[in-house]
Amino acid sequence: MLENNIYSLCGYGNNSNNYYNNISSFTDIVTQRLQKSGSFYIKGFKSYLSDNNLESLRSDEEYLLELLVIGVLWNIYLKRAIALNNTPKFILSRLASSRENETLKKFADYFRSKLLSTFLSKENNIKSKFSIEEFSKLIGWLTASGEFKQEVKRISRWKDYCLHKTNNEVSSILKTAHNLATWFELQSDKILGCYTKNVEQFHKGVYKNYKLREDYIFCGRKRVEYHLNMVGAEIMNRAYRDSFQLSEVKLLFLPACMKKSKNCKAKKTNKGYVCLHCSNHCNISKYTQLGKKQHFQVYMIPHESSIFKDSNSDNSSIGIIGVACVLNLISGGWKAKDMGFIPQCVLLDYCGCKHWLANDIETDINMDRLLYILGKK
Ligand code: SF4
Repeated sequence: MLENNIYSLCGYGNNSNNYYNNISSFTDIVTQRLQKSGSFYIKGFKSYLSDNNLESLRSDEEYLLELLVIGVLWNIYLKRAIALNNTPKFILSRLASSRENETLKKFADYFRSKLLSTFLSKENNIKSKFSIEEFSKLIGWLTASGEFKQEVKRISRWKDYCLHKTNNEVSSILKTAHNLATWFELQSDKILGCYTKNVEQFHKGVYKNYKLREDYIFCGRKRVEYHLNMVGAEIMNRAYRDSFQLSEVKLLFLPACMKKSKNCKAKKTNKGYVCLHCSNHCNISKYTQLGKKQHFQVYMIPHESSIFKDSNSDNSSIGIIGVACVLNLISGGWKAKDMGFIPQCVLLDYCGCKHWLANDIETDINMDRLLYILGKK
């Protein structure tokens, strides 16, 4: 089954231990490259954030990651952003925000599925400029797609910062982001491409049948975006590792695709579902039992959005480990951080849901990696 999966950290056959060695050394290389080209801009951006009291400052590496995210999204989506007219942009953005509402989500997704491929896949091939206008168009497209909520939030800060800069300075920031992303795409293919070799095959094959699906944009995301999320997850894990280990409460959120039985007996609580151990062979049961020994609580969640319902509580002493498939890692980490949690993440070794496969398969993570995140290894 793994040989057909859109990605596999197990290198389509082994376990994922090699992946974790590779991602660690590749992230070192990426960080050095980002520092060399981006540190000057990060200094200015951080001063802007602190002078205007916009947020508690994060580490340089996290802002460098944001610069790389801008570059990757710029390289992939700018041509589409330039081609998108204001009316469909407005309608799609409204539909995307309606998805936040549980009652409206189904209707919003129905209409999105009819519109996404028509309006968001056209490209305009005119030579793009590294300007604030193009940057705004990119953010408009990302908003209309409904798939980049956290990315839009983070990079909109950069756009606001650019509004205080001269045209030449803006051009220099955006060009740097674009160049870094171009370098990253080439290098990440060499090191991480062995884990994502099915992405292009998927896009050339079954993806053609996704045109009227609400996950058209999500499932169409490029190979470099998988690699970006892998490196981004590693950067964020490093940034919050120490504070996570000091956190008083540790929670592990597991996706429902890890459970064994379709007749799962897990009990709903306000944080997520708690396993009742109806099967000895269920991965959720396995990690729930591990949690009892290692002092963390385990919740199964049907969807990432359901983790963060209670936005008003003080989460500053709570460390959370989110488990997700690759494409949700950076946004999940940013969201958790925004909510005041101390975030860590572990990647699903492969994905198993109907976004990609005709039939669900049970997923798993690397237990050694989980224990490492917990500071037990
Ligand atoms: S063992 Fe737990 S999570 Fe797995 S199917 Fe049973 S109740 Fe659900």
